[in-house]
Amino acid sequence: MHAMKLETYEAGKSFGDFRALDGVSIKVAAGTVHALLGENGAGKSTLVKGLIGYAPLDQGAVMLDNREHAVDSPRTAHALGIGMVYQHFTLAPGMTVAENLLLARGRLPWRIGWKKERAELTAFMDSMPFRLPLDRLCGSLAAGEKQKLEILKQLYLKRRFLILDEPTSVLTPQEAQEVLGLVRDLAHQGELTVLMITHKFHEVSAFADAVTVLRKGRQVGDALVADTTPDLLASWMMGEARIAA
Ligand code: ADP
Ligand code: MG
Repeated sequence: MHAMKLETYEAGKSFGDFRALDGVSIKVAAGTVHALLGENGAGKSTLVKGLIGYAPLDQGAVMLDNREHAVDSPRTAHALGIGMVYQHFTLAPGMTVAENLLLARGRLPWRIGWKKERAELTAFMDSMPFRLPLDRLCGSLAAGEKQKLEILKQLYLKRRFLILDEPTSVLTPQEAQEVLGLVRDLAHQGELTVLMITHKFHEVSAFADAVTVLRKGRQVGDALVADTTPDLLASWMMGEARIAA
């Protein structure tokens, strides 16, 4: 088991006088998929940009496996094993799967001892529950395969806490199922812990173990997914606006 537990305690962030995030305490258990839900402007990106160190939180604490860490830059976050996958791809389309993995580690594919790297990459791919051909050009992969490669890349970088920011928004429903199925399997095997931003209730109920709902920068709901319904999640997300509608 390599997956890490992540907790925040009273996390907060202001932009000038505006409190975008206030007193958010989440607990993401090791080896689980934890969904982060909320309307536009709820504070989801503010929280995860804090966790990855792009825009450090200005209040509260972040704990990994019960140890507090100051996540003050992406470099610090990466060194702690925290990674992020975005809705858009960050792959080099003219390079192969193998070359993209090497580049992620800062290795220039044309400057390496290829034979040794090849054996290591093959062993890595064989250890994964999902494989991609090492010699395929990334530009020729379907969108779902590209997103799987982004996730494999994070594992290749030894990231153990993965933040996914709307990872399925450019995928077909079929591809989305496959990618989230892979993510869930990796988490439940203990390889990863996942915090996933999504707007889609059906993805929460099918693939997440637990859920936190933010509204206007505050935490308004926390539950095991098994104890929720789409209606309950919607009422947390929209609050009084929904009752008025
Ligand atoms: P979400 O990702 O849930 O849609 P965000 O975390 O992006 O929400 O934004 C939360 C609130 O903080 C919004 O009201 C947004 O306008 C504000 N905000 C986010 N980033 C900044 C920034 N860099 N400067 C000023 N306000 C910001
Ligand atoms: Mg956002």
